[in-house]
Amino acid sequence: MAIAVDLHLMILGLIFGLGLVSLLVHFSLGRGQALGWLASGLLCVAVELLVLRYGARSQLGAASLAMLVPAIYFCSSQAVRHATGLGPTSRRVTIGMIALAALSLLLLATSLPPTLQYVPLQLASIFVFLDTTLALARKHQRTPLEHGLLVLGFLVLAGVIVRVPLFPAMLGQPTPWAPLDAVLFERVFIQSMGVLNAGLAILLVARIVTTVIADYRHSSERDGLTELLNRRAFDALVDTPATARGAIVMCDIDRFKAINDSYGHHVGDEVIRSFAGMLSLHCDHAGRVGGEEFALLLLDSSHEEAVAQAEAVRRAFNRLSHPAIEPGTRLSASFGVAAFEAGSRIRDAMRSADRALYSAKRNGRNRVAVAEEAAPLPEAVLSAAA
Ligand code: GH3
Ligand code: MG
Ligand code: MG
Repeated sequence: MAIAVDLHLMILGLIFGLGLVSLLVHFSLGRGQALGWLASGLLCVAVELLVLRYGARSQLGAASLAMLVPAIYFCSSQAVRHATGLGPTSRRVTIGMIALAALSLLLLATSLPPTLQYVPLQLASIFVFLDTTLALARKHQRTPLEHGLLVLGFLVLAGVIVRVPLFPAMLGQPTPWAPLDAVLFERVFIQSMGVLNAGLAILLVARIVTTVIADYRHSSERDGLTELLNRRAFDALVDTPATARGAIVMCDIDRFKAINDSYGHHVGDEVIRSFAGMLSLHCDHAGRVGGEEFALLLLDSSHEEAVAQAEAVRRAFNRLSHPAIEPGTRLSASFGVAAFEAGSRIRDAMRSADRALYSAKRNGRNRVAVAEEAAPLPEAVLSAAA
């Protein structure tokens, strides 16, 4: 039994469905303008396909195509730009595109041959999409997905440029290549452009999804105030067995409550950010594990190197001045250091470093203490760090 499949309606349904899904995801994410533009572009394509099927020969159908086609390329351009961080199309290019599309509308009211009437609207599409594709080509350090978008972008452009003299055939109107029209449009443009545009939409969705996942991953691992690792991410680091030796440094800002009480919470936040900035200069794995408590994981570092790093941060923080804080009030922090060997549990070292930190607090604050079970540090190391 033969089943008749209407390719045109099937493509229309797919594009409409993809547009709706993009729109739903766009609204449920509450962000991601790229998906919103992609959805708008796809819904314009769905309307274009409807017009081509049911209203192509009417004057209204031709006029709506004159606006829909540039709108599709404008929306796709914005989707590509937002997904790849290029920023929106410039006002100059947008105005040029609108002017060209309006010129096509005017020409439709004249008795010029259809091929000429539709040239400006196609130039409008080429203009706006070429501008975006060239901007993507100029972008430094493209990801593999962006390379794919660039290649597909140029292929789509090539298709649109080749289509310029044949465009009226879409509306059943004469072109200079009348005998080829039907075949070219059915086989070359409707099908291959459909595949290219679908490929572009899929790459865009993939690019948007990877960016959204990376953003969520970043915000689930990073502390919002300092951009250091948050408690959960730092815990995940220390809950794995050590593959090499290293050290943990626990730090706590001294008498921080008094800073908040005297100068306000916003000054307290700035102090926390400054301290975090100093920590991240010294270590790739710096975490904010409490309000004004921080931890450093120093891999491949000796005990002595870890103490030297902690001393360097302690002295830098003690020298820090803040415009809102009286010059006579010195900021300070206390530190506890514990080393670990390859194969040992970093979590145990963290507990030892925490105990050392509290002994630093008990012994007067503004100092670095080493964990009791660690080997005592040579005097030379401490004096070199001072
Ligand atoms: P100590 O020297 O013993 O560590 O004293 P402290 O005052 O630093 O310690 P305490 O635990 O008494 O107070 C910590 C304060 O840190 C209390 C809390 O309001 C403040 N804090 C916690 N998180 C934040 C934050 O994100 N921003 C600001 N501004 N303050 C915070
Ligand atoms: Mg404190
Ligand atoms: Mg504390």
